[in-house]
Amino acid sequence: MSGNPAVVMRLVASAYSVAEKAGAIVRKVLHSGDLGIVEKTGANDLQTLADRLAQKSICASLSRRFPKVTIIGEEDLPCEEVQEDMIENGQAEEILQKSCPKEYEALKEEELVVWVDPLDGTKEYTEGLLDNVTVLIGIAYGGRAIAGVINQPFYNYQLGSGAALGRTMWGVLGLGAFGFQLQEVPADKRIVTTTRSHSNKTVTDCVNAMEPHNVIRVGGAGNKIIQLIEGKASAYVFASPGCKKWDTCGPEAILHAVGGKLTDMFGNPYHYNADVKHMNSAGVLATLRNHDYYVSRVPQSVLQALRSD
Ligand code: AMP
Ligand code: MG
Ligand code: MG
Repeated sequence: MSGNPAVVMRLVASAYSVAEKAGAIVRKVLHSGDLGIVEKTGANDLQTLADRLAQKSICASLSRRFPKVTIIGEEDLPCEEVQEDMIENGQAEEILQKSCPKEYEALKEEELVVWVDPLDGTKEYTEGLLDNVTVLIGIAYGGRAIAGVINQPFYNYQLGSGAALGRTMWGVLGLGAFGFQLQEVPADKRIVTTTRSHSNKTVTDCVNAMEPHNVIRVGGAGNKIIQLIEGKASAYVFASPGCKKWDTCGPEAILHAVGGKLTDMFGNPYHYNADVKHMNSAGVLATLRNHDYYVSRVPQSVLQALRSD
């Protein structure tokens, strides 16, 4: 199917190449040694030069090729021309070659919403926990996350110079997800992954209520979804506001494409229309399997706390 690929497949193919360029920018800023850190709402909500440059590159590149798509990025940046060398024109050939799922063949540019987290795990980026960092691009239609791209700029960085640095994962609902080996934690093991830098009592109460055999505390929403699909964790549990639509849209699409599920702590789905509230106020609960078990373990006190936010 390489004749005239559907708009959504062309958009995913562009998002793949654009996310790789953004990943290269994220690496370059780190190597420059000057991160240009700014506090947004506080010391646990940071923005660096890499967040700013990566978002400019992603948004300018995608909007040039897809002018009618609504693009919503995390960073609040002034509208200005970007330099030509910030534009990525490539489209991943491997994606253009795949058949578009029937239900998305006729989608138009103006019906699509793109959610961009140019650098997820900024806190960890500034602390040198580099494999926690991802670039996230999610594509929504009719309020649902239908496609996503995750670039992990520092994948393999601990292996040294011989190993290829960075990787890109992508997925489309109804087609599947690619760029990684799908693995599951054994069904009788509950390994919970949660935040390392945005914890509070409700967050830890909820993690404990899952009766986990093991708890992993790492940065990044994208990174935690990668742990689910690569068999490192059984559930991503974050019973707090803080995560936003750009954190979850892309990762959710990839997780759903392999049969997993991402909801709030009540078990309700999030919506990704252009006009939704950005905050995922009722927390994030994501699993590859056994979602109902984890929803059933969320204590009433936790639900009560989230209801009042
Ligand atoms: P974490 O698991 O703490 O790395 O968070 C996943 C994503 O949600 C990251 O993009 C964080 O910046 C964001 N996030 C979670 N909690 C908060 C918070 N309290 N304030 C700002 N951002 C948050
Ligand atoms: Mg983020
Ligand atoms: Mg970010």
